[in-house]
Amino acid sequence: MNKNIIIKKPDDWHVHFREDAMLEVITKYSARINNRCIAMPNTKTPITNSLQAIDYKKLIEKNSKNENFQALIPCYLTENLDLVDFRNALKNNIFIGAKLYPTNVTTNSSFGVSNIEKIYDVFEILEKENKTLLIHGEKIDKNIDIFDREKYFIDEELTTIRNTFQNLKIVLEHVSTKYGVDYIKSNSNIAGTITPHHMLLTKKDVFLDNIINPHHYCMPVVKNENDLLALRKAACKNNTKFFLGTDSAPHEMKHKFPNMKLKPGIFSAACSIELYAKIFEEENSLDKLETFASINGPKFYNLPINESTIRLEKIDWIVPEFVKEKSIKIKNFFGNKKINWKVVDLNV
Ligand SMILES: [Zn+2]
Repeated sequence: MNKNIIIKKPDDWHVHFREDAMLEVITKYSARINNRCIAMPNTKTPITNSLQAIDYKKLIEKNSKNENFQALIPCYLTENLDLVDFRNALKNNIFIGAKLYPTNVTTNSSFGVSNIEKIYDVFEILEKENKTLLIHGEKIDKNIDIFDREKYFIDEELTTIRNTFQNLKIVLEHVSTKYGVDYIKSNSNIAGTITPHHMLLTKKDVFLDNIINPHHYCMPVVKNENDLLALRKAACKNNTKFFLGTDSAPHEMKHKFPNMKLKPGIFSAACSIELYAKIFEEENSLDKLETFASINGPKFYNLPINESTIRLEKIDWIVPEFVKEKSIKIKNFFGNKKINWKVVDLNV
């Protein structure tokens, strides 16, 4: 049996580093094993211009405790961006691309876009500069069930974007349904990130008898068994259109008590690559972990593949229940549970 895996150093193409004390505490967890992370721009004041992006990148890298670590910043799209600054920032690689949050789909998305036609000039610039549009693909409407938001977004918004901008590169972030997986597989210029939690949880783990588990509540919400199986297959079977994006998204414990207005998000950075290894082993696909974690992402983003490697060993360990530091207390995903893979060497 395989007791060791050595893979090229991974990158995480979807992380929330937040700000202030939270950022200072959590950044090192993603930087411990990843060479690069896309830092989502939905901070309290969203990152919408080049100066903010430069500052945010510096702040994250300073707190990473890893001098080689790179934070990559997408622009938070609004309906009134400064397009000259946006274009220049893309040309100068200050923005890796741009992130579309439909209004009110998740944390700090109230500044997002309510009518995609209003930002067609932004899509045009992205397409011309060959930069990526990252999408939180959910459509919110009082008549749309929370479990169907991804499907409606694909049918009613994404298809329109793709038909209008046929050369625009798109990442459908945190794909959560079989419908989303199938859509990505059968269309060109589109890829998807897959989180560990969407491959480990179904809605039964969130919506218990008469109470919601706040630590499994995220956007998009986890779905059914057949969705989970489709996501596992997409990640583990060497399909180059899918890559690692944890959507590690911490909230303090005070926002995670049952029976309150919950903040959605799961913090998995303390054990992310180990969880992916566990899933890939369960799918008899450990030999495909490197492709998913370290190769497909940079290829899609036209970036170099990392040269150094990490080694995971088959060792049981218990994920600590919480991260507690400074004034911050966060529940770890998989906290108090056993994982059978552990990173033991960096830069092998
Ligand atoms: Zn996210």
